[in-house]
Amino acid sequence: MEKKKKRYGIMGGTFDPIHTGHLVVAEEVRQEFNLDKVIFMPTGDPPHKSSKEVALGQYRYEMTLLATVTNPFFEVSRLELDRKGTTYTIDTMITLKEKYKDDVEFYFITGADSLLELHTWKDSDKILELCKIVAATRPGYDLGDMEERLKELNEDNKESINTITTPGLQISSTDIRHRVKNGMTIKYLLPESVEVYIEKYKLYK
Ligand code: ATP
Ligand code: MG
Repeated sequence: MEKKKKRYGIMGGTFDPIHTGHLVVAEEVRQEFNLDKVIFMPTGDPPHKSSKEVALGQYRYEMTLLATVTNPFFEVSRLELDRKGTTYTIDTMITLKEKYKDDVEFYFITGADSLLELHTWKDSDKILELCKIVAATRPGYDLGDMEERLKELNEDNKESINTITTPGLQISSTDIRHRVKNGMTIKYLLPESVEVYIEKYKLYK
């Protein structure tokens, strides 16, 4: 008898820092697509030391752990962090496919802004063969644009891409970093544990 495939979501991001927008999208997609779990995958540190631009991987990893630890369906992977330099999504998907063979179906979760750039992703056609993509609405990015863009993709790939409307939260890591730098409040934009962590390590000052 054929074994039922598991369904894993992959939520990629810089998570600098992780915030409630990310968490709401991941949880909503998990529910809608009946996922067994969502694996948060913080990106590796950029190759040239631009630590001024992106907080160290270890910080981003720990914040992502803190934010997700209370959800039994959420996990954090160090796969991209433990690779040197930037890892392309295609390389991550190939690694995951090798690890889980055909036992798992992958759903790559992105916001509308990232999907609009899908055509610039390395080997986007191959990515679509290895996983389904779920693109969530994001305030400020037009879902209409997103659907227009999908039409440009060829027929075979279309069914690999799904869109989902999630409770819209106009939260971004850029805004949070800006707020911290300017001594403004970040309460409720991200979990309290992450807020305390940012204070402890004086990030984004
Ligand atoms: P930055 O401002 O530094 O780019 P960000 O808030 O966009 O940070 P990322 O780590 O770049 O966060 O995003 C990871 C993924 O989460 C991307 O696919 C992005 O589109 C999605 N995302 C981030 N914030 C939201 C949000 N508020 N609503 C929906 N999707 C989001
Ligand atoms: Mg972003």
